[in-house]
Amino acid sequence: MKITFLGTGTSQGIPVIGCGCAVCQSTDKRNNRLRVSVLVETEDKTIVIDSGPDFRYQMIRAKVNDLDAIIYTHEHKDHVAGLDDIRPYNYLLKKLIDIYATIRVQDALRREFSYIFEDTKYFGLPQIKLHTVDMQPFLIGETIIIPIEVMHHKLPVLGYRFGDFTYITDAKTISDESLEKIKGSKILVINALQKEGHISHFTLDEAIAFANKAGAETTYFTHMSHNLGLHADIEKELPSHIKLAYDGLSFEVE
Ligand SMILES: [Zn+2]
Ligand SMILES: [Zn+2]
Repeated sequence: MKITFLGTGTSQGIPVIGCGCAVCQSTDKRNNRLRVSVLVETEDKTIVIDSGPDFRYQMIRAKVNDLDAIIYTHEHKDHVAGLDDIRPYNYLLKKLIDIYATIRVQDALRREFSYIFEDTKYFGLPQIKLHTVDMQPFLIGETIIIPIEVMHHKLPVLGYRFGDFTYITDAKTISDESLEKIKGSKILVINALQKEGHISHFTLDEAIAFANKAGAETTYFTHMSHNLGLHADIEKELPSHIKLAYDGLSFEVE
Protein backbone atom coordinates (compact mmCIF):
# COMPACT_ATOMS: atom_id res chain seq x y z
CA MET A 1 0.00 0.00 0.00
CA LYS A 2 1.35 3.41 -0.93
CA ILE A 3 0.59 6.47 1.18
CA THR A 4 1.00 10.03 -0.11
CA PHE A 5 0.27 13.17 1.87
CA LEU A 6 -1.88 15.42 -0.33
CA GLY A 7 -1.98 18.09 2.35
CA THR A 8 -0.66 18.50 5.90
CA GLY A 9 -2.02 21.90 6.90
CA THR A 10 -5.15 23.49 8.32
CA SER A 11 -7.00 26.58 7.21
CA GLN A 12 -4.15 28.44 8.97
CA GLY A 13 -1.60 26.04 7.56
CA ILE A 14 -1.72 27.05 3.91
CA PRO A 15 0.30 30.19 3.17
CA VAL A 16 -2.08 32.65 4.82
CA ILE A 17 -3.19 35.58 2.67
CA GLY A 18 -1.28 38.68 3.72
CA CYS A 19 0.65 36.88 6.48
CA GLY A 20 4.29 37.92 6.79
CA CYS A 21 5.31 35.11 9.18
CA ALA A 22 8.38 32.99 8.45
CA VAL A 23 6.26 29.91 7.64
CA CYS A 24 3.92 31.66 5.21
CA GLN A 25 6.88 33.42 3.53
CA SER A 26 9.11 30.33 3.48
CA THR A 27 10.64 29.07 0.24
CA ASP A 28 11.14 25.61 1.80
CA LYS A 29 8.28 23.68 0.17
CA ARG A 30 7.77 21.67 3.35
CA ASN A 31 6.29 24.79 4.96
CA ASN A 32 3.69 25.27 2.22
CA ARG A 33 0.95 23.08 3.56
CA LEU A 34 -2.41 22.65 1.86
CA ARG A 35 -5.44 21.44 3.81
CA VAL A 36 -5.07 18.00 5.37
CA SER A 37 -5.72 14.93 3.20
CA VAL A 38 -4.01 11.66 2.38
CA LEU A 39 -3.99 9.35 -0.63
CA VAL A 40 -4.04 5.60 0.05
CA GLU A 41 -3.27 3.39 -2.94
CA THR A 42 -4.00 -0.25 -2.11
CA GLU A 43 -3.51 -3.26 -4.42
CA ASP A 44 -6.86 -2.64 -6.05
CA LYS A 45 -8.26 0.76 -5.01
CA THR A 46 -7.37 4.45 -4.96
CA ILE A 47 -8.73 6.05 -1.80
CA VAL A 48 -8.56 9.57 -0.42
CA ILE A 49 -9.24 10.45 3.21
CA ASP A 50 -11.09 13.80 3.31
CA SER A 51 -11.58 16.23 0.42
CA GLY A 52 -10.97 19.71 1.75
CA PRO A 53 -11.04 23.04 -0.11
CA ASP A 54 -7.71 22.23 -1.84
CA PHE A 55 -8.85 18.81 -3.12
CA ARG A 56 -8.90 19.69 -6.84
CA TYR A 57 -5.44 21.24 -6.88
CA GLN A 58 -4.02 18.50 -4.67
CA MET A 59 -5.21 15.78 -7.03
CA ILE A 60 -3.76 17.63 -10.05
CA ARG A 61 -0.50 18.34 -8.22
CA ALA A 62 -0.08 14.68 -7.21
CA LYS A 63 -1.17 13.50 -10.69
CA VAL A 64 -3.90 11.24 -9.30
CA ASN A 65 -5.65 9.94 -12.39
CA ASP A 66 -7.87 7.41 -10.67
CA LEU A 67 -10.25 7.64 -7.71
CA ASP A 68 -12.48 4.95 -6.25
CA ALA A 69 -13.45 6.22 -2.83
CA ILE A 70 -13.36 9.09 -0.35
CA ILE A 71 -13.52 8.32 3.36
CA TYR A 72 -14.47 11.19 5.67
CA THR A 73 -13.17 11.78 9.18
CA HIS A 74 -15.72 14.49 10.02
CA GLU A 75 -17.76 17.26 8.45
CA HIS A 76 -15.69 20.38 9.12
CA LYS A 77 -15.20 22.48 5.99
CA ASP A 78 -11.44 21.96 5.82
CA HIS A 79 -12.23 18.23 5.36
CA VAL A 80 -15.28 18.17 3.05
CA ALA A 81 -15.40 21.38 1.00
CA GLY A 82 -13.86 19.87 -2.16
CA LEU A 83 -16.43 17.12 -2.74
CA ASP A 84 -17.88 18.90 -5.78
CA ASP A 85 -14.57 18.44 -7.61
CA ILE A 86 -15.02 14.68 -8.05
CA ARG A 87 -16.89 15.59 -11.28
CA PRO A 88 -13.87 15.07 -13.59
CA TYR A 89 -13.38 11.58 -12.17
CA ASN A 90 -17.04 10.73 -12.79
CA TYR A 91 -16.70 12.04 -16.31
CA LEU A 92 -13.33 10.59 -17.28
CA LEU A 93 -13.60 7.25 -15.48
CA LYS A 94 -17.34 6.85 -16.12
CA LYS A 95 -18.00 5.66 -12.58
CA LEU A 96 -19.56 6.72 -9.31
CA ILE A 97 -17.25 7.60 -6.44
CA ASP A 98 -17.88 5.62 -3.27
CA ILE A 99 -18.26 7.89 -0.25
CA TYR A 100 -17.74 6.43 3.23
CA ALA A 101 -19.03 8.47 6.16
CA THR A 102 -20.99 8.21 9.38
CA ILE A 103 -24.71 9.09 9.30
CA ARG A 104 -23.91 12.43 10.99
CA VAL A 105 -21.35 13.33 8.33
CA GLN A 106 -23.74 12.16 5.57
CA ASP A 107 -26.38 14.53 6.98
CA ALA A 108 -23.89 17.40 6.77
CA LEU A 109 -23.02 16.48 3.15
CA ARG A 110 -26.75 16.46 2.29
CA ARG A 111 -27.06 19.98 3.75
CA GLU A 112 -23.91 21.44 2.24
CA PHE A 113 -24.16 19.76 -1.17
CA SER A 114 -27.97 19.46 -1.42
CA TYR A 115 -27.88 19.58 -5.27
CA ILE A 116 -25.93 16.31 -5.35
CA PHE A 117 -28.82 14.56 -3.65
CA GLU A 118 -31.73 15.99 -5.66
CA ASP A 119 -33.98 13.58 -7.55
CA THR A 120 -33.61 15.32 -10.88
CA LYS A 121 -30.04 14.66 -11.95
CA TYR A 122 -28.64 17.08 -14.46
CA PHE A 123 -25.58 16.44 -16.55
CA GLY A 124 -22.28 17.10 -14.84
CA LEU A 125 -23.54 16.69 -11.27
CA PRO A 126 -21.14 14.85 -8.93
CA GLN A 127 -22.13 11.18 -8.85
CA ILE A 128 -21.60 9.36 -5.60
CA LYS A 129 -22.65 6.20 -3.80
CA LEU A 130 -22.98 6.61 -0.04
CA HIS A 131 -21.76 3.93 2.35
CA THR A 132 -22.45 4.21 6.06
CA VAL A 133 -19.53 3.89 8.45
CA ASP A 134 -20.31 2.80 12.00
CA MET A 135 -17.71 1.44 14.37
CA GLN A 136 -17.42 -1.87 12.48
CA PRO A 137 -14.46 -2.64 10.23
CA PHE A 138 -15.35 -2.41 6.54
CA LEU A 139 -13.83 -3.42 3.22
CA ILE A 140 -12.84 -1.28 0.27
CA GLY A 141 -11.77 -3.76 -2.38
CA GLU A 142 -9.57 -6.29 -0.58
CA THR A 143 -8.50 -3.92 2.21
CA ILE A 144 -9.99 -4.02 5.72
CA ILE A 145 -10.39 -0.58 7.27
CA ILE A 146 -10.92 -0.16 11.00
CA PRO A 147 -12.65 3.04 12.21
CA ILE A 148 -11.16 4.55 15.37
CA GLU A 149 -13.14 7.17 17.27
CA VAL A 150 -11.30 10.17 18.70
CA MET A 151 -12.71 13.35 20.21
CA HIS A 152 -12.32 16.78 18.55
CA HIS A 153 -13.36 18.72 21.68
CA LYS A 154 -16.98 17.47 21.87
CA LEU A 155 -17.26 16.19 18.29
CA PRO A 156 -16.52 12.51 17.60
CA VAL A 157 -14.17 12.18 14.63
CA LEU A 158 -13.05 8.97 12.96
CA GLY A 159 -9.48 7.93 12.35
CA TYR A 160 -8.83 4.88 10.19
CA ARG A 161 -6.44 1.93 10.38
CA PHE A 162 -5.34 0.08 7.24
CA GLY A 163 -3.08 -2.82 8.28
CA ASP A 164 0.10 -1.35 9.77
CA PHE A 165 -0.95 2.21 8.96
CA THR A 166 -3.18 4.42 11.12
CA TYR A 167 -4.34 7.90 10.14
CA ILE A 168 -5.87 10.24 12.69
CA THR A 169 -6.59 13.93 12.39
CA ASP A 170 -8.36 16.58 14.48
CA ALA A 171 -7.98 14.73 17.79
CA LYS A 172 -7.90 16.41 21.18
CA THR A 173 -8.59 13.36 23.35
CA ILE A 174 -8.25 9.66 22.57
CA SER A 175 -9.74 6.96 24.81
CA ASP A 176 -7.84 3.87 25.96
CA GLU A 177 -10.23 1.78 23.88
CA SER A 178 -9.21 3.67 20.74
CA LEU A 179 -5.54 3.56 21.75
CA GLU A 180 -5.77 -0.25 21.79
CA LYS A 181 -6.96 -0.20 18.16
CA ILE A 182 -3.96 1.97 17.20
CA LYS A 183 -1.32 -0.06 19.04
CA GLY A 184 0.80 -2.27 16.80
CA SER A 185 0.65 0.17 13.89
CA LYS A 186 4.07 0.56 12.27
CA ILE A 187 3.21 4.00 10.99
CA LEU A 188 0.92 6.44 12.77
CA VAL A 189 -0.22 9.81 11.49
CA ILE A 190 -1.59 12.16 14.14
CA ASN A 191 -2.45 15.85 14.26
CA ALA A 192 -0.20 18.49 15.90
CA LEU A 193 -1.56 22.02 15.46
CA GLN A 194 0.85 24.35 17.25
CA LYS A 195 2.72 24.78 20.52
CA GLU A 196 0.05 26.92 22.19
CA GLY A 197 -2.94 25.18 23.77
CA HIS A 198 -6.09 24.71 21.67
CA ILE A 199 -9.57 23.58 22.67
CA SER A 200 -10.06 20.97 19.95
CA HIS A 201 -6.62 20.00 18.57
CA PHE A 202 -3.51 18.33 20.00
CA THR A 203 -0.64 20.72 20.66
CA LEU A 204 2.87 19.64 19.66
CA ASP A 205 3.58 18.33 23.18
CA GLU A 206 0.26 16.48 23.37
CA ALA A 207 0.94 14.86 20.00
CA ILE A 208 4.46 13.80 21.11
CA ALA A 209 3.04 12.30 24.33
CA PHE A 210 0.40 10.42 22.36
CA ALA A 211 2.94 9.18 19.79
CA ASN A 212 5.03 7.76 22.63
CA LYS A 213 1.99 6.02 24.16
CA ALA A 214 0.92 4.51 20.82
CA GLY A 215 4.46 3.26 20.17
CA ALA A 216 4.51 3.19 16.36
CA GLU A 217 7.93 2.73 14.72
CA THR A 218 7.41 6.05 12.96
CA THR A 219 4.87 8.76 13.72
CA TYR A 220 4.19 11.61 11.33
CA PHE A 221 2.48 14.82 12.41
CA THR A 222 -0.10 16.51 10.21
CA HIS A 223 -2.85 19.20 10.37
CA MET A 224 -0.19 21.78 11.24
CA SER A 225 -0.88 25.50 11.53
CA HIS A 226 1.57 28.19 10.45
CA ASN A 227 1.83 28.91 14.19
CA LEU A 228 3.69 25.62 14.65
CA GLY A 229 6.87 27.09 13.17
CA LEU A 230 9.30 26.13 10.43
CA HIS A 231 9.57 22.47 9.45
CA ALA A 232 13.39 22.43 9.76
CA ASP A 233 13.33 24.04 13.24
CA ILE A 234 10.58 21.89 14.72
CA GLU A 235 11.93 18.61 13.38
CA LYS A 236 15.20 19.23 15.25
CA GLU A 237 13.23 19.28 18.50
CA LEU A 238 11.62 15.88 17.87
CA PRO A 239 12.84 12.40 18.84
CA SER A 240 14.03 10.33 15.85
CA HIS A 241 10.85 8.22 15.62
CA ILE A 242 8.66 11.33 15.18
CA LYS A 243 8.69 13.42 12.02
CA LEU A 244 6.69 16.24 10.54
CA ALA A 245 4.85 15.18 7.41
CA TYR A 246 4.88 17.51 4.42
CA ASP A 247 2.81 17.77 1.27
CA GLY A 248 3.98 15.19 -1.27
CA LEU A 249 5.74 12.92 1.26
CA SER A 250 5.13 9.33 0.24
CA PHE A 251 6.00 5.87 1.58
CA GLU A 252 5.07 2.20 1.33
CA VAL A 253 3.53 0.29 4.24
CA GLU A 254 1.99 -3.19 4.57
ZN1 LIG B 1 -12.17 19.72 12.48
ZN1 LIG C 1 -9.47 20.03 10.55
